[in-house]
Amino acid sequence: MIEIKNVSKTFTQKKGKSYVALDQVSFAVEKGEFVSLVGPSGCGKSTLLNLIAGFETEYEGKIEVNGEKVTAPGPDRVVVFQEHGLFPWLTVLDNVAFGLKQKGMSKKDRYELASEQIKAVHLSKFVDRYPHELSGGMKQRVSIARALVMDPDILLMDEPFAALDEQTRYILQKDLEEIWQKTHKTILFITHNIREAVILSERVLVMATQPGRIKKEFAVQAARPHDIGDPLIHFLES
Ligand code: ATP
Ligand code: MG
Repeated sequence: MIEIKNVSKTFTQKKGKSYVALDQVSFAVEKGEFVSLVGPSGCGKSTLLNLIAGFETEYEGKIEVNGEKVTAPGPDRVVVFQEHGLFPWLTVLDNVAFGLKQKGMSKKDRYELASEQIKAVHLSKFVDRYPHELSGGMKQRVSIARALVMDPDILLMDEPFAALDEQTRYILQKDLEEIWQKTHKTILFITHNIREAVILSERVLVMATQPGRIKKEFAVQAARPHDIGDPLIHFLES
């Protein structure tokens, strides 16, 4: 579970000017919940995710994960970024198995687990390929496999499909949906795409900018992507 209470974040920018990126943000994500965070560019979505991930530790307010204050990155929270960030010199199998070294597992066990996870993202045929031999969608699937293989409690996803074409994005949305149905990981998913948020998640938090705040939130009743049209967009923009 993620608990955010009255979190504010001020950056000191050039010439000593300060900028309030987040202002008194509060929300919680329950264990097993799939929550999306949407909002305009610059409203502080990534800043918030970086705080939860523990990449940035200076802030006001309270951030707790599973009842403990976040002070550093931890294996309980894994991040998937828009850029896949794979190691170009490692094969798909080695990229996915890489993080397991820190768990002290044998090579055989690491490869076995990594292979299973690669299968779950439908890339078994490509285990020996290098990142430059894969399409953008495939690379992003490897990066999801690499995150899931660590078996984190929480998956933090920062616009993971933003760089993909419509069709590939759709396929990866399906993959993620399937993964969540199977694993019920706690997911905080950042996207610009309100439609994507509604299709995938159970609850949507809408942020406003300057300063970054949660403007509203709504629960998604059921997956009904075809009903979602302009009225929702107007509601969110109002
Ligand atoms: P996008 O949708 O474009 O990814 P975002 O909602 O993720 O935007 P953030 O990257 O969180 O937005 O940035 C929020 C604000 O904080 C922006 O105005 C940005 O310029 C500022 N900001 C972010 N990181 C820093 C930093 N390290 N130093 C100074 N200002 C920063
Ligand atoms: Mg961002």
